[in-house]
Amino acid sequence: MKISERNRRWRQLVELSRRIGTAAESYAILGEGNTSTRSGKDTFLVKASGTSLSTAKKDSFTECLRPILDPLWESKSRSDTEVDEKLLAARVDLKAGKPSTEALFHSYLLSLPGIEWVAHTHPIAVNGILCSPRASDFAKFRMFPDEIVCGGEQSVLVPYTDPGIPLAKAIRTGVEDFEKEQGRFPRMILLQNHGLIAIGPSAGAVEATTKMAEKSAKIFLGAASLGGPVFMPEAQVRRISGRPDELYRQKVLKLE
Ligand SMILES: [Zn+2]
Repeated sequence: MKISERNRRWRQLVELSRRIGTAAESYAILGEGNTSTRSGKDTFLVKASGTSLSTAKKDSFTECLRPILDPLWESKSRSDTEVDEKLLAARVDLKAGKPSTEALFHSYLLSLPGIEWVAHTHPIAVNGILCSPRASDFAKFRMFPDEIVCGGEQSVLVPYTDPGIPLAKAIRTGVEDFEKEQGRFPRMILLQNHGLIAIGPSAGAVEATTKMAEKSAKIFLGAASLGGPVFMPEAQVRRISGRPDELYRQKVLKLE
């Protein structure tokens, strides 16, 4: 990646984070959530620990080397101190802040073909469903066409897991199983009792997915209070996701 493109992405990452961190919908407050983008073949930019999305600036992000983090996937268990040491060693600039403890799942997701951006948040309505017994309905079924355009036909649902390495491994398993079954990567990963991860090819795509996920969750909650939701039949969901005009809208939204 050219240095000018890397710097452009760094600026875009600051802007995306601020928009997500200050949205009226409250996708993330205080130090919640983290964002990232690829910055080179083996490098990525991720939010530093202890920073806030709402006040993000250039040095809120740390550039990391993926190969240094890769040994963390090995099955042997590691103490929090060992994990912290790896996170610190992965920094390209040793004066940069410590990468978020969730850097490992960002590293994995950004290694997938076509995935250049990641936004992880704790949106209120989405979490309302993810902390309820109906989380799997929200992941598996769709209620209206724009939900499919921005969120795909289905989402991955990851059972509650300890943050850090266990969560990164559970996300990897969930995404791999989804890809085997569906023949494509998801746009949305739902973390039970935790939050949302939007992944995609552009900053605009992950922002649109985050916005539409929260809107869908509000609609789900409203429909649930009236005895629903009534989900779209599978054939209709498939038809919307494959329609040429929907593909055009996805292009306009830079979702593809
Ligand atoms: Zn989180």
